[in-house]
Amino acid sequence: MKLFSTPPVLSGKKNKKRKKLLKAQRKALKRADHPFESDKAADCRGVVLSNRAYLSVLSEVYSRDPLETGGIFFGNVKNAVWYVAEASDPGVYTLHTRAHHEMDNNYHNHIYPVLSRLYQHGLCLLGLWHRHPGSLDTFSSDDDRTNHSFAEVIGNGAVSMLVNLDPTARLTCYYLSKNGEYRTVPVMVGDKYFAGTGFLELTTSEALLKNKDRLQAEIFDPEEA
Ligand SMILES: [Zn+2]
Repeated sequence: MKLFSTPPVLSGKKNKKRKKLLKAQRKALKRADHPFESDKAADCRGVVLSNRAYLSVLSEVYSRDPLETGGIFFGNVKNAVWYVAEASDPGVYTLHTRAHHEMDNNYHNHIYPVLSRLYQHGLCLLGLWHRHPGSLDTFSSDDDRTNHSFAEVIGNGAVSMLVNLDPTARLTCYYLSKNGEYRTVPVMVGDKYFAGTGFLELTTSEALLKNKDRLQAEIFDPEEA
């Protein structure tokens, strides 16, 4: 249940690093335990962030301000709505400037199963988010490459959200389709929009005990990366 097979992003040479990251990202969802439950060929007509996901994004953005930062979206898709239950921070071994950031792949390999196992439906990789300087709410060519690598891994397009502080937090959400076309999609915040999906339902202690073998098997060991 590993997302990325690369070492922490700060080690190694940049090009080599990027190549490895792209390769790892392409492989990532093939290893995931939880494919989309419905809408196998889902499009995206909107994105919903849980209260927790939204607060995770904001707290990370504020703690790095004015530097760029970002993270990954985990959740589920139903009726072409992409429900983000969890938004990660970038991790431990990260890089931040005003116009660039790099995330920690080992960290994401670790927290993906750790978070996913808490939910009855598990979690899928849905995309990513990052902060942009000033009011810039369009992608750089590097962003574009990253978005495409996520779309390829997810196999169903990818959601990529930008956060601007100009000066209050403003969210701009894009969907990169399977055909490689971008479009902005509405983004809504609130657990109430998850009503009827069950996507915020937590697992139970009984279910965890029953799945103990799987829990033990899926813990990411960087030594084996
Ligand atoms: Zn960017």
